[in-house]
Amino acid sequence: MSLTSPKVDFRTPRRKSCERCGEQIPPGKLQTALVLDSSRVDPADFARYGQRLVHACGDDHMAQLVEQARRDWVDEQWWFGLLCQASRSAERESLSELARRARLSAGQLDAALEWNARTADPLDCLPGGQPC
Ligand SMILES: [Zn+2]
Repeated sequence: MSLTSPKVDFRTPRRKSCERCGEQIPPGKLQTALVLDSSRVDPADFARYGQRLVHACGDDHMAQLVEQARRDWVDEQWWFGLLCQASRSAERESLSELARRARLSAGQLDAALEWNARTADPLDCLPGGQPC
């Protein structure tokens, strides 16, 4: 048996795969939506602030993806992201000052820090250098 290189047809645009079933989406069936995503706190991408783009092959799978995204949203993760974002431009500020800048309450700050500590790979300090 010999290996052959895959045939590439440059005339065919690359098709998106459905993020629910993994199947390639046939022409004309592609559905695209912005869904909630608490891990997306990206100051460079305000268009997708707390959201991400998903692709689905039809109404059912899109509805399931939207519902899954809603269930996966974690407030504490979002608050921690806001804290990290505030930290990037405020290296000398304390955690409570950063929380105020990010419009987080003291309870939200605590919950965000606890969330970070519970993750598999917690940050030791925020992007601005504050230990957390
Ligand atoms: Zn699908």
